[in-house]
Amino acid sequence: MLDTYSPSWMTEDLEIFKDAVNKFYTREFVPHSDRWTKEGIVDRDAWYKAGEAGILCASIPEEYGGGGGTYAHEAILTEEMERCGVAGFGNTVHSLICAHYFNAYGTEEQKRKWLPKMATGELVCAIAMTEPGTGSDLQSVKTRATKQGNQYVISGSKTFITNGQHADLIIVVAKTDPEQGAKGISLMIVETAEADGFRRGRNLDKMGQHAADTSELFFDDVKIPTSNLLGGEEGQGFYQLMQQLPAERLIIANQGVGAIERAIQLTVDYTRERNTFGNAVFDYQNTQYKLAECKATWMAARAMVDQLADQLMRGELDANSAAAAKFWVSERQCEIIDTCLQFFGGYGYMDEYPISRMYTDARVQRIYGGSNEIMRMLVARAL
Ligand SMILES: Cc1cc2nc3c(=O)[nH]c(=O)nc-3n(C[C@H](O)[C@H](O)[C@H](O)COP(=O)(O)OP(=O)(O)OC[C@H]3O[C@@H](n4cnc5c(N)ncnc54)[C@H](O)[C@@H]3O)c2cc1C
Repeated sequence: MLDTYSPSWMTEDLEIFKDAVNKFYTREFVPHSDRWTKEGIVDRDAWYKAGEAGILCASIPEEYGGGGGTYAHEAILTEEMERCGVAGFGNTVHSLICAHYFNAYGTEEQKRKWLPKMATGELVCAIAMTEPGTGSDLQSVKTRATKQGNQYVISGSKTFITNGQHADLIIVVAKTDPEQGAKGISLMIVETAEADGFRRGRNLDKMGQHAADTSELFFDDVKIPTSNLLGGEEGQGFYQLMQQLPAERLIIANQGVGAIERAIQLTVDYTRERNTFGNAVFDYQNTQYKLAECKATWMAARAMVDQLADQLMRGELDANSAAAAKFWVSERQCEIIDTCLQFFGGYGYMDEYPISRMYTDARVQRIYGGSNEIMRMLVARAL
């Protein structure tokens, strides 16, 4: 129904990739999805399987073990996960976010050391910005990285960290110069297997996205070599974070578009089957008008993210346009899923129905990746 639409940047190769990704998720992830949701974490093996299938680091150059693709590959991977109903596999953080920090700012040695193992799934990566005391106001992070000889000593705590239980490699946002705001921030790479004083806290109970191992992390005088400072120069962290934001925000919008498509499809299927008063629920004018509106909104969202993806791939996407897409699409996603859920009646409130899970999974889209209020501020600032 909706998947007949194709973005302007779609090619035959990307169509083949999309089909292969869909088959991979359907075969390898969908059968385990309910269990992962109950257990609050995906199997470690899922990462190795994804690595073998070329799903990890798809947009990282081949010389570092990646797939040599572009943002289009990441958009397809993210949207197909939504279409297949697999929530909680943290590949977006691992491949689209973390791997690109290494690729863009890492020294040659850092890239060669970590990227190939991230591409195979041998290393799972997380990025730890948020702390119990600060999220939106990133300049106020309290985690410290103090230089002592040829080491940095990291102390502090982080929370809400995606891939927190699985992570073998963590990009930690820390202050190397606490006297400075943004200019005192650096990105430090912690290899968890070798990090005395590193501790994983709770795998947090959440409203949705249950299979994602969103966690607390503690750093108690963790020593890392100075060669684990990303890019090798102190004080670059805030600048590095800002440069990567357009892609990080746009992918949340892509995720939203994929979820909207699935919600509409599920609702059309259900309302055609469900009868009340001798009619299919789909045949009521209220159902048809509301679903027609959902489709029109989906078309606008689709066109917006596809245009911005095109700009991103040409190196022309600005951070505030990506912020606009992030807040607008995530809010339409929540509204549309709410509208769709209503057509399922009581079944829509039952956890075993995908639309119910989609409702709770969607809510965080307006919070993470920069809250929608912060997104509005950025957009307004650039007007
Ligand atoms: C499931 C999940 C996964 C996450 N994954 C990660 C991860 O992998 N790595 C990571 O580092 N973080 C992660 N986060 C954290 C997330 O990015 C933060 O929760 C988010 O940035 C908001 O920060 P906060 O929770 O501290 O809220 P706060 O910053 O305390 O904000 C609270 C409220 O105040 C509003 N607000 C704040 N400042 C302003 C302002 N100036 N003007 C108007 N309103 C304002 C906010 O919009 C929000 O509504 C994750 C969070 C969740 C829930």
